[in-house]
Amino acid sequence: MRQEEDLKMRDRILGSMVGGAVGDALGYAVEFDDYATIVRRYGKPGITRYVLGPNGKALISDDTQMTLFTAAGCLLGLTRGCCRGIMGRLDSYCSHTYRDWYFTQLHRFGDKPAEGFFGTWLMGIPELYSRRAPGNTCLSALQALSDGRKPQNNSCGCGGVMRVAPIGLICERLGYGGAAQHDAAMAARLTHNHPLGFLPAAVLTLILMNILHDDAFDRAGLRKAIVEAIEAYPKTLSEDDGGKTYGELWPEDVAKLSGLIRKAVSLTEEDVEDVDAIAQLGEGWTGHEALAIAVYCALKHADNFEYAIVSAVNHSGDSDSTGAVCGNIIGALLGRCLIPSYYTEKLELLDVIEDMANDLYTGCPISEYCDMDSVDKWRWRFKYLDQLYWEPREQMEAHIKDGSLFDKLGYDKKFCMACIKGIEKFRRELKQGLLEMTDESTGKKTWTEKDVESIMKGQTLNVLLNALEFNTAQEYAELLSL
Ligand SMILES: [Mg+2]
Repeated sequence: MRQEEDLKMRDRILGSMVGGAVGDALGYAVEFDDYATIVRRYGKPGITRYVLGPNGKALISDDTQMTLFTAAGCLLGLTRGCCRGIMGRLDSYCSHTYRDWYFTQLHRFGDKPAEGFFGTWLMGIPELYSRRAPGNTCLSALQALSDGRKPQNNSCGCGGVMRVAPIGLICERLGYGGAAQHDAAMAARLTHNHPLGFLPAAVLTLILMNILHDDAFDRAGLRKAIVEAIEAYPKTLSEDDGGKTYGELWPEDVAKLSGLIRKAVSLTEEDVEDVDAIAQLGEGWTGHEALAIAVYCALKHADNFEYAIVSAVNHSGDSDSTGAVCGNIIGALLGRCLIPSYYTEKLELLDVIEDMANDLYTGCPISEYCDMDSVDKWRWRFKYLDQLYWEPREQMEAHIKDGSLFDKLGYDKKFCMACIKGIEKFRRELKQGLLEMTDESTGKKTWTEKDVESIMKGQTLNVLLNALEFNTAQEYAELLSL
């Protein structure tokens, strides 16, 4: 049962991340077209299948790019917490990873970042160094952050809400102790300082967490997730604003946002064409309108991924962002398995998006004192602790396999390889009493019974490190016949 639940959770986290990218990619082709132009070009149903880019792929836009960098920020924070025992609020890591994204918008792949850039593994993905109509507010705010200035704007654009989905996903998955919705709002506020620019991020986060938490899978479940989010977010405390609640701090904006989301919910119960309903909610260039349109489309078509996404992008407004947010919601509700293959097969960077979604699901597998005894643990370390941005991913994988990465990082290659490849063999032989090491200077047996005990409990690496006081890494590797 437990395993089944985990599989479902994984499918929903993947669904939300991939779903968001699908909505983004479908909408990107018509982002700046009004409805009449879309119908003229694609016929009455509007755009329903991808327009492929020159690389034969359905191009993702800045919405998905920044969502990936949000996820990277969350995972950097989490890994730091696990390995160093110190963890700040998630938005504090996003403020670094967003600057990495900004770097990709100004430079070519292979350019070496100046100091002050974080170096997430995403910087090793050449395709991310593409400008896909990035929002000016995000660009100018991140330029300010990169210069060490506080961004000055009063923007309520949708660039905040369209990128924060990973925060809700990872926080619900890991049972995060803080107020995830506040982390998300503050992650949006890094670039969008108007309450209607960042409050929708809190609402989206609560909706996603409610979906995953309540195991909602149908329209009734989604409706409940949305209504509860609307009721809950005004009570969120902002430690950044004197510890008052959102409702006390921004009563008018909260009323406006909540009112629009409630209207979106009630419109799904009326007999009205999607495009007309959406027109009543706005165009989606602002945060609250984008969320309202996404909520309407996901709830109206809660049993069909395609219908939800198609309705979310076919209107006169900001199609890629409304598509992305709708995809985050409907994907979390229905799961990755219900996203049609014609939307995933040609999706740009699907492998990277799924890789990131899997990491959000897995959570950090390493800690300060754990044995680094698997390739997956090393890979995680390279991605989220050592941050090897300068290598393309395939190359990095190859370097992990042949051990050259260990050299580069100043680790003892043989020792690391021994840990990865030899440890199972080592445990087996130890168990069978085949292994014996002696300290040559004293003739004493190195291994005490206590050592053996702790090795059997999985404390291998520490014991091995102790052993190295008596044996070189090379002897050690030879011992393990590598
Ligand atoms: Mg976009």
